[in-house]
Amino acid sequence: MKTTFKFRLYPNREQERKLNFTLDKCRFTYNQLLDFLNKSKKIDKNKTQHHILKLKEEYEDLNDVYSKVLQYENYRLFSNLKGLSQSKKNGRKVGRLRFKGKGWFKTFTYNQSGFSISDEGKRYTTLHLSKIGDIRMRIGKKQNRPKGEVKQITIKRTRTNKWFAMVVSEEKFKRLKKAHRKVGIDLGLEHYVYDSDGNHFDSPKYLRESEERLKWYHKQLSRTKKGSKNREKAKLRLSKVHEHIQNQRIDFCHKLSHYYVKNYDFISLEKLQIPNMVQNHHLSKSILDASWSMFTNFITYKVERTDRKLKFVNPNYTSQMCSSCGRIVKKSLATRKHKCKCGLNIHRDYNSAINILNRGIGKELPKYMLVETKPLFGDEQVMVGETRSTFR
Ligand SMILES: [Zn+2]
Repeated sequence: MKTTFKFRLYPNREQERKLNFTLDKCRFTYNQLLDFLNKSKKIDKNKTQHHILKLKEEYEDLNDVYSKVLQYENYRLFSNLKGLSQSKKNGRKVGRLRFKGKGWFKTFTYNQSGFSISDEGKRYTTLHLSKIGDIRMRIGKKQNRPKGEVKQITIKRTRTNKWFAMVVSEEKFKRLKKAHRKVGIDLGLEHYVYDSDGNHFDSPKYLRESEERLKWYHKQLSRTKKGSKNREKAKLRLSKVHEHIQNQRIDFCHKLSHYYVKNYDFISLEKLQIPNMVQNHHLSKSILDASWSMFTNFITYKVERTDRKLKFVNPNYTSQMCSSCGRIVKKSLATRKHKCKCGLNIHRDYNSAINILNRGIGKELPKYMLVETKPLFGDEQVMVGETRSTFR
């Protein structure tokens, strides 16, 4: 299965010039192909591909870009086209494909050939890109490097002018040691996750602090005038915080997802309501959504690389239903405890996690239609899972 790795690049000045040059020529080619397509009567992928050769005759500097990198722009154009007709099918209002302005083109791709990565076992290595050169690349720890055959490399320039290589490699399937354990995981507001074994993990303090900072920078941005210099500055600062948070988040989500995939054979998760995420203007909610979807994505791809099992379940009523007897115990968001007539008295998210596990393994509980409104027990029976700050 395919896995993508992201590595930071450290080009020298001449290489950076060539990277920017390539980016610009790709943009040029993309726009030219789009123009050609708009003028043609029939949509024909081979014809637009062939048009690249004509462009190369007319604009000689295109020959300074590796030919397959330019060809990839044809592929990109057609996959954008496909995406567009897909959204149309889904009933969304869409326009035509647009020409790409300077700031809107951030990546180019080497597919199958024109690149090589040397691996001397050190943290820094060289990425060879045809027509660009040997660029210094931070490849990091051994366990985080691609082990399979590298199929494709996408070069990306961030808004803060950093360069990255997204390396796609074909990873082999890994058989893990049997854990003989199953788990359900609840994603919560109070704790980042609560699981059916009663463990809960919080996102690290430094991450929560940066997320608070993000809100502040957003506010600063909204206070600047459109088109002003200050707005540009505020945008750049915001991008930097975004990048920083993203890295911290990646680190945390890697560790947490690794913990679950390593220690459990079967993982049950709630299905997230992602489609609404983009439209969500409430910042703190969207921060949380982004983080949760990263976590579930990481679990998904880690499970796919191994013989572990993963199931997504419908989250309806997982917090209201008693995981022991099936009664519905109504509670507001502020109620942190699940107290049931049957005697179960645990943290509400712990209860949800058990329900999520039960749904995942298809365990049915008796269905009570009874609605509890008042708590029936005191706090003496509280069973709270241990808190762990480190992953094992
Ligand atoms: Zn109960």
